Amino acid sequence: MSERTLEQLEPNLVWQIFKEITKVPRPSKKEGKIRKWVKNWATKNSVKIKEDKTGNLLLSKDAAPGCKKFPTLILQAHLDMVCQKQPNVVIDFEKDPINAFVEGDTVRAEGTSLGADNGIGMAIGLAALITPDLKHGPLEVLLTVDEETGLTGAFALEAGFFSGKYLLNIDSEEVGKITISSAGGGGTDFVFNSKLENKSNHKSIKLTISGLKGGHSGVDIDLPRLNAIKLGIDALLEQQESILLSSLNAGTVRNAIPRDFECIILVPEKKRKNVMKNLKLWRKNTLDIARTSEPGITIDISDVSETHAFNSETTKAVLNLLLDINHGPLTHSKEIVGLVQTSSNLAVVETIEKKISVHVSTRSSVNKELEEVRAKLKEIGKNHGAKVIQDEAYPGWEPKPGAPFLKLVKRIYEEVMDKTIELEAIHGGLECGLFVSLDPELQVTSIGVNIHNAHSPDEYVEIESVGIIWDAVIKIIENMNQLK
Ligand SMILES: [Zn+2]
Repeated sequence: MSERTLEQLEPNLVWQIFKEITKVPRPSKKEGKIRKWVKNWATKNSVKIKEDKTGNLLLSKDAAPGCKKFPTLILQAHLDMVCQKQPNVVIDFEKDPINAFVEGDTVRAEGTSLGADNGIGMAIGLAALITPDLKHGPLEVLLTVDEETGLTGAFALEAGFFSGKYLLNIDSEEVGKITISSAGGGGTDFVFNSKLENKSNHKSIKLTISGLKGGHSGVDIDLPRLNAIKLGIDALLEQQESILLSSLNAGTVRNAIPRDFECIILVPEKKRKNVMKNLKLWRKNTLDIARTSEPGITIDISDVSETHAFNSETTKAVLNLLLDINHGPLTHSKEIVGLVQTSSNLAVVETIEKKISVHVSTRSSVNKELEEVRAKLKEIGKNHGAKVIQDEAYPGWEPKPGAPFLKLVKRIYEEVMDKTIELEAIHGGLECGLFVSLDPELQVTSIGVNIHNAHSPDEYVEIESVGIIWDAVIKIIENMNQLK
């Protein structure tokens, strides 16, 4: 049997629109072409559309006859996609279409990411606007810019751009679950600007830790994994009276648990033997304990030939700052079992010439806790004489399990799937937190189709799951009169 084409799939309207979306380039931060396509689509289909100054779009449609009393429902998705390809594929993501095709029960793309994240969400939103004979109240479809690389569109959204009090985000990636909470986050940078001194009568030693599991700070922070920075400074703190820091580099990106650590220290010649002995003893003890949870760990201690180091004061300040910064989960949710509410990822240390900088990422679904932890970090930095720089945090989305909109969505979703739907909270960041921060009365809920390997060339979507979400969305629209 030859494979079907996308246009032959059901729900037909959704797949037709998705097929057209895949032909339009839409890398994050370069949404101009897709924005133009959506505007043309709206004109062609007599749907009202407006754009804000960041490039977010709002399509809207008045209530159908007899449905004037329904409250407004907002369906929301993002315009951009993560563009990834296999090494052998030649494609210009800013110009070329994605070649999507059907394979068995799935849709995937030829050697690239598919963009079902969030193209299917967009297609469902647009299809809802032009479905004939739908019993709908006022409908709004909000399409945001650059969800994937900074939540830029959601960040810049202004109150009043959309008017509804109920927002259904269609960007989750698993059928049978409703997302009700996400974490907010913010970064803190600590900077030491000091002198490097030439030290005669000193020997230099390099300590390297590698092979740790690491992981994503929004997903894996609660797992028994070691932080390479915490581990490394444990060795150095014991000897802080005898050593001078020459350089320290560990971790690579802000949202990953650091897997490696590389540090060069200078030691007065007469103390070298003793420091070496202590480091080796520390290595033995550490490996004995760490190997269970981190079987890939290696620790190397070697002589090198470095002659410059920071003074003792800076050395101690850096080490004790790193000691005082927490790493890992700080609190757990009292409403959702197993959910990390607030966490800290001591992510990166970097030495560039005479500057040492440290980056910490804080996440929390509770904005008050997020701010408290960040204030504490500021204090810690000050205590150790570091310059502290904090970016603007993005807000968390606190769970509200009793919200009427959530109850409606859950009941309808359960009818559609004929099974219990789980409520899920995540420790990663979502646009939903930013929507709620614009209007505290806004009730937000997130659902989505089954997308696998998102953000990779192996991304694919399960065809059947699109039908399930479509049915749920249609029934939610038709039952909005149950809300005020
Ligand atoms: Zn997405």
